[in-house]
Amino acid sequence: MAAKLYWEKDAKPKALDAKRVVVLGYGSQGRAHALNLRDSGVNVGLGLRPDGKTWAQATEDGWKPEDPVSAAKGADIVCMLVPDMQQASLYKEVVAPNLKKGGMVLFAHGLNIHFGQIRPSPELDITMVAPKGPGSLVRRTYVEGKGVPCLIAIQQDASGKAFERTLAYAHAIGGTRAGVIETSFLEETETDLFGEQAVLCGGATELIAAGWETLVAAGYQPEVAYFECLHELKLIVDLIYEGGFAKMHQFVSETAKYGDLTRGPRVVDAHVRETLKTILEEIRSGQFAREWVLENQANRPVYSKLLERDLNHPIEKVGKELRSRMSWLQPPAAPKGGPALESRAGNGSGAKASKPKKVKA
Ligand code: NAD
Ligand code: MG
Repeated sequence: MAAKLYWEKDAKPKALDAKRVVVLGYGSQGRAHALNLRDSGVNVGLGLRPDGKTWAQATEDGWKPEDPVSAAKGADIVCMLVPDMQQASLYKEVVAPNLKKGGMVLFAHGLNIHFGQIRPSPELDITMVAPKGPGSLVRRTYVEGKGVPCLIAIQQDASGKAFERTLAYAHAIGGTRAGVIETSFLEETETDLFGEQAVLCGGATELIAAGWETLVAAGYQPEVAYFECLHELKLIVDLIYEGGFAKMHQFVSETAKYGDLTRGPRVVDAHVRETLKTILEEIRSGQFAREWVLENQANRPVYSKLLERDLNHPIEKVGKELRSRMSWLQPPAAPKGGPALESRAGNGSGAKASKPKKVKA
């Protein structure tokens, strides 16, 4: 069954007319959504903790943030763009008691609803717009007249208008320029967690590190191993992104292709495929979500330790040194009298870097 895609012509921007949209959180997604909504003419405000670290940045970007409670009181639509593990208490303490009846709560990821961390009032619309990319790209592509593909989902439709309002929101942040697919909270949550764990973040970095370690342990120069196992990955992924496996096959050598076809399946072998299934099962059963909630309740001892180990991996030292000489990776110098434009491919938090004057990128 082919998924149904929605494009610019399918959206009804008027569905957000006379609606006050309040974005809670001004991090990776929050900043991008808020700026894009504002530039699309939506009536949008921010709810931030006055002592939070993004209040100052928001003010520099021209916002007048309010504390989350006052912001939620004046809202028709509240966007939950604080970290997933902060959302349950924010919903309970701030959103549920203050959002008007018939209001809408919009998420960018379904974890808290799908795994029952938030049990919303049936009088509210509960929906999702999940961009398939980091906030910095949601902003940058919007400014460039493009967009990031989005998933949308409707969990509760108390108003009878939830779908058109949610599609209008996806449209306003640029999603319909790249294609919007309707999904469910279940499908978005489970596939998103699986993708980031098995392929995108977990799988990819672990494969990079294991490849690099294998070469270095065998006596090859760490810099050569870096280019081979990390740097070139982007070039290959770009080809696959642009034209699938076929385009990559057009551009690599016959020898590379033969090696790919015969050795690739030995790397991702039956054992790895079994592990992928186990990881998916841990997600679907709720085991992963439970573990992550408990880890947060315990102040993240495992997370902190593993993150530190990742950041201290020797490939990071080699990479830092090599990348410092790649002029194209350096942020462009600030023009005289004006700030630099932020925009670094794949930099999830690049949006926090600077503040251009007119169009905020
Ligand atoms: P983030 O960590 O980048 O930013 C969180 C923001 O919330 C910050 O401004 C922080 O100061 C603020 N905040 C934290 N606790 C708060 C509280 N109790 N009250 C008010 N503000 C608070 O978060 P993010 O990565 O943008 O994630 C937001 C949501 O978007 C999550 O549901 C996440 O799963 C989803 N999402 C993120 C990405 C991504 O690329 N980062 C992609 C798709 C979906
Ligand atoms: Mg890793």
